[in-house]
Amino acid sequence: MADGSYLKGFVVTFKKLFEDRVTGDYRGGKAKEGAPDEKRAKPERFHGRHVLNRYEDGMEKCIGCELCAGVCPAKCIYVRGADNDPAAPASPGERFGYVYEINYLRCIHCDLCVEACPTQAITESKLFEFSFTNRSDAIYTKDELLVGDNGKPQQLPWEDWRPGDDELTSGWMRATSPAGDHRYEGVVHWAGELGYGVRDPEPAQEESSDG
Ligand code: SF4
Ligand code: SF4
Repeated sequence: MADGSYLKGFVVTFKKLFEDRVTGDYRGGKAKEGAPDEKRAKPERFHGRHVLNRYEDGMEKCIGCELCAGVCPAKCIYVRGADNDPAAPASPGERFGYVYEINYLRCIHCDLCVEACPTQAITESKLFEFSFTNRSDAIYTKDELLVGDNGKPQQLPWEDWRPGDDELTSGWMRATSPAGDHRYEGVVHWAGELGYGVRDPEPAQEESSDG
């Protein structure tokens, strides 16, 4: 026999219908103070959607070495390298990334692929607002991951980019000598924003050239 306590639950629910909402619309809308009605600045080390970078002359940084795919704990990167055509190379290396895919249904944004890449070809933007209505959209191809001619991420129809978002990439950690200099062996530090094209030297490189 019900003791009527479930009715008390309905009463509580009914009363709540007339109280102010404690949440707000994520985009637009009239939100309460502190509610997420607009994007907040992301932390420097925030990991978002990847990009495949180019050098300033347009050459692709990826050399198709597959180290990122090998280190990925989620097994969500698929790379196939191929030899560059000497007459029209895609990258400065002997080989380039012929096929490059990331499956975002599996990626955990650990950044190990970024750490493993010897040419800083793959980095992460801070974009996390992207959702899909089918599985094939969740698998980003090389054409989608490559930065555009302006060196910025492509903005795909299912991604929510706001002004300035495309200027930012995540900071990341080098676990080994940052300058390739033996004096910095074992030095672990966070590198700043990578940006696109040729990036600024890291602190140890500056110290190395000064000293
Ligand atoms: S961030 Fe981590 S899980 Fe995602 S592709 Fe890179 S290594 Fe794999
Ligand atoms: S993104 Fe970097 S680690 Fe991955 S295949 Fe290209 S060069 Fe190698």
